[in-house]
This record gives sequence, structure tokens and C-alpha cells, in this order.
Amino acid sequence: MLVGILAIHGSVSEHESMLYRLGVRSVLVKTPEDLNGIRGLIIPGGESTTVGKFLSGTLGNAIKKLAMKGTPIYGTCTGMIVLGNVASREPHTLGLMDVTVKRNAFGRQVDSFEEDLAIPALGKKPFHCVYIRAPVISRAGANVDILARSGGNIVFAKQGNLLASSFHPELTNDTRMHEYFLKMCK
Ligand code: GLN
Repeated sequence: MLVGILAIHGSVSEHESMLYRLGVRSVLVKTPEDLNGIRGLIIPGGESTTVGKFLSGTLGNAIKKLAMKGTPIYGTCTGMIVLGNVASREPHTLGLMDVTVKRNAFGRQVDSFEEDLAIPALGKKPFHCVYIRAPVISRAGANVDILARSGGNIVFAKQGNLLASSFHPELTNDTRMHEYFLKMCK
């Protein structure tokens, strides 16, 4: 199985190592052609204004088509933002998930934090969540499954083949989130 990682910027190599640890081949996606033959796509965290610009053209359209064909896509942090919708004009998003996302919902860089969160979808043991200027989902449509909340805020959700988390599992040693996504890709 081949899984793509959008490689514009952000925590690309960390997702690559996770997939490697799980014995899954990955390809760094920079052009629409790089999407050929992938069974899933990860959109890493970074800066959504930058990533959004790269997704406003042919690459974004190709990703949209892929999603509509049912290919699983997992967005972390910035990935969550671009999969959803924002209330402002910037950044450009793909609007694939029926959610409104609030950027920098916990505050500035210095307000970044970590916590152990109970996430039944990932198993009994709490999951260590790393939030870096993280967004939250402020509105979710009826077809969105809410998989975790932090202090009342939606931080992990799924809508069919689309998965989004506010936090960065690739920055931990816990492979359960990636395993969860890879099950969707099989
Ligand atoms: N605050 C960033 C943004 O709005 C997201 C940060 C991240 O991906 N870790 O794009």
C-alpha cells in the first residue's frame, strides 16, 4: 500500500517516519501526478495560509477529486483547516468536510500545550495530544462523527473518508492514530 504525504512544508518527515515504522510505503506529494496510485493522503501541520495557496490551483483540484472518489485523507492541524472551511477569506481551503474551523483557537505559539486525552476510537489508553497553535472545529454538520473533544472543543472528527485532528500524533511515539487512518485506507 502506498500513502501520500502532502509535502509543501510542515511536519512531513515525521509522518514519513511513522508510516515507515508501520511498514507502509509513502510518497511525498508536490504535484498532481504524485497522487497516482496512492491509497490515502496525509496533509501535515504547518501554516495554513501557505499550504492553502499551494492548494488553490491544480493540486488542490486533484486532491478534491481524489477525496470525492472516496480516497481517505487525514489532516492534522493545518490539514484540518484546509479540509474544512473557515469563516474568513484566508486561508484558501478545500471545503471537503462539513465543518467550520477556528484557527489558533487556544491562543498564540506560547499557548501551545500537550495533554492526555481519552479517545475511545483509538483504544483504552489515553492518547498524548500535542497542540501547536492548534485549530478546533467550531461547527460540525450532522454527518460528521465527533471522535474527541478537549475542554468542550472538537479536536478530532471523521466524515466518511475524511479524518481531521487538531493535534499532531506524528510528534509522539504512539502509532495508534496512523494505524486508525491506515485501516481506513485498506
Ligand atoms: N496555526 C497554524 C495555521 O493556522 C496551524 C499550526 C499547525 O499546523 N501546527 O495554519
